Order: sequence, then structure tokens, then C-alpha cells
Amino acid sequence: MIVGIVGGGQLARMLALAGQPLNFEFLILDPAPDASAAPLGTHMCGNYNDQALLADFAKRADVVTYEFENVPLESIKYLSEHATVHPSHHTLAIARDRMREKTMFRELGIPTPPFAEVNSRTDLENAVTEIGLPAILKTRTLGYDGKGQAILRSLGDLDIAWKQLGSMPLILEGFIPFNREISVIAIRGLQGETKFYPVSENIHRDGVLLLSTSCPDDPMQQHAQDYAKRLLDSLNCVGVLALELFQVGETLLANEMAPRVHNSGHWTIEGAETSQFENHLRAILGLPLGATTPVGYAAMVNFIGTIPKSEQVLALPGAHLHNYGKEERPGRKLGHATLRAQNEQVLLEGIDRLLTLAQPETET
Ligand code: AMP
Repeated sequence: MIVGIVGGGQLARMLALAGQPLNFEFLILDPAPDASAAPLGTHMCGNYNDQALLADFAKRADVVTYEFENVPLESIKYLSEHATVHPSHHTLAIARDRMREKTMFRELGIPTPPFAEVNSRTDLENAVTEIGLPAILKTRTLGYDGKGQAILRSLGDLDIAWKQLGSMPLILEGFIPFNREISVIAIRGLQGETKFYPVSENIHRDGVLLLSTSCPDDPMQQHAQDYAKRLLDSLNCVGVLALELFQVGETLLANEMAPRVHNSGHWTIEGAETSQFENHLRAILGLPLGATTPVGYAAMVNFIGTIPKSEQVLALPGAHLHNYGKEERPGRKLGHATLRAQNEQVLLEGIDRLLTLAQPETET
């Protein structure tokens, strides 16, 4: 079986690693000569809208998937006409546009923060009147890891935010004083069967995910799962879909979805019976889905901008290091470590030690 992956970053790399024991082969389409996933498959190096390259890629792959939402939609549409693509380009079109995805959440009865479409300065003023402040102005597409966003705390912030983002289609969202952020990783197979991992509790730093902790038996599990299932079924989605939610009291508000393997699910490699990566491959190839049962307690810490020495991480009991082989650059995800423990107390102690390794600049 040959799996084509559009995008050759760490998510593609971990998909390819999960597919090796099953004897799958990988075609990696990515313009970067040093793409993280390139050593794990056949690297087709070129532009995402190079039609000749796309045609060759589609011909050679038995199934095509993608590792990020910001791939040109036209390219995924083209690939869909020449190969089997999961999740569908229709799902991608919704997930990459914050306005369309929030509208879909609302239509499916999934609560969201208040939001309004903003296409002009007048729209922005009307949206602020309707939603109130504080609020967050976001680009509808191409935003990730907190990029393409501005927080509006007072009317005086409107000018600068509009200057920064006004050239793009925008969405204004009410600023939610959430108790915590969680996500649920869900999978749907070719026959419509679904499975869900325990929810992850997520902590971000500067808009980038820093820590995900798996929460077996979380009181919000069923709630989060029901929302994810509504989305999967309504989209007729095949593969992994991650749903990010804000918890406010006993209410969950949907922030965004990603029809792909997700950073908050990396702990599943060591912390679950079957990883999100293997399950995504199983789903898109029509194979039986694997159990999502957790194996002990698990958490994941991202290494952003800098990565500790291997020996420092590996000296921690229960720690597993994943180095993506990328050059150090501020804000770049270079690797992560998963920590597995038999009880919560041991896990929490290990997380503290991992966070100290992950953020050396904040040490005193
Ligand atoms: P996003 O790119 O939408 O996932 O936003 C990045 C991060 O910004 C989220 O993980 C939250 O921590 C924060 N954030 C985004 N939208 C909101 C909101 N409406 N209210 C409060 N915080 C938000």
C-alpha cells in the first residue's frame, strides 16, 4: 500500500513511522528539501500547486491524505479527481475557514463563542457592538498557533487590529474566560464506525501548544465525544478529526476542528493501545480501527524553539523523546516528549521536570 501525504512536517513523519510496521510505503509531497518526513518515504519535492507533480503523486498513491489545513484547497480538489483522498476536500474547505466551521458547529447544535463575520471596518464596529469587548479578531483562513489574531480589549485597539489584519476576510469572536481548554481526538472508519480517545487538557504558551495531558474518566468526555461524533457523521469524514473546546463551568464551547492528526494527540503513541497516527492510516485504508484505550496516565510536552539534550529527557523515568530532526528556530516545534506513569502523582512530578527542560530560558 502506498500512502501519499501532502505536507512533510512532523505529523507526516509520525504517520510514516506508524505505517512502517504495517509495511505501508509513503510518498511525501513537500516543497522543503529538508522536510522532516522526507527520510521516511519517497520525497516528491516541489510546489503544492505544481500540476505535473500532483498528477504523478496521485497516480502513484493508493490513498492520499494531508497533514495540515493550509495546503491549497485547489490542489486537494485536483487530487480528489485523480485519487482517493481522505478526509474529503469538502471537509477541508470547512475546517480551514473559521467562519464556515463555526457556522457548521452552530447548525449541529454545538455551542461556540459568539462570533460575527467581518469584511469591512463598519462590519468590525457592528460586530464589536453586538459581541462586546474583550473579543478576538482572527483571519478566517491561514491562521495557526495563534497567528493572524488580535485581542481587542478596548475601542482604542480597533485601529491597530484593523491595520494588522484588515486586508483579509475576518471573524470576530467573544473572548471566553474559560476554565480550561480540552480537545478530543476522534476517528471514523470507511464504514462509518467511530472511536474516541480520552480528552486531552491543553495548555498553550504564546498561542502554541506546550502541554497536553490525557484525562481518562474526564467528566466532560461524553459531551466532547458527542460533539465530535456529530461532526464526523455530518461530514461523512474518514480519518482522524480533532475538536478543540473551551470549558466554561459545565459547558463546552467549540473553538476549532482539524481533520487530521493533531498535536494534542501525540501522547497516544505511547499512552494508548493504538496511536492516532496508526488509527488514521487504518481508517483511510479501510482497515479495522484499533482500540483507543489509554495505557496508564500520559502527558506530552512540546519542545518549541529549542530542544533539550536527549540524555536529559531520557533520564526521566517514563519519558519518550521524539526529535523531528528540524533546525532550531524561535517558535518552531522541534520535538516533543511523552511521559507515561502508573499514577497521577508520578505523572505530575514528571511533567514539572519536563517543563523545566522545555523552557530553559524561564529558569532562574
Ligand atoms: P486558535 O488559533 O483559534 O486555536 O487560538 C489559539 C489560542 O488562543 C487558543 O488555544 C486559546 O488559548 C486562545 N483563544 C482563541 N480563541 C479564543 C476565544 N474566543 N476566547 C479566549 N481565548 C481564545
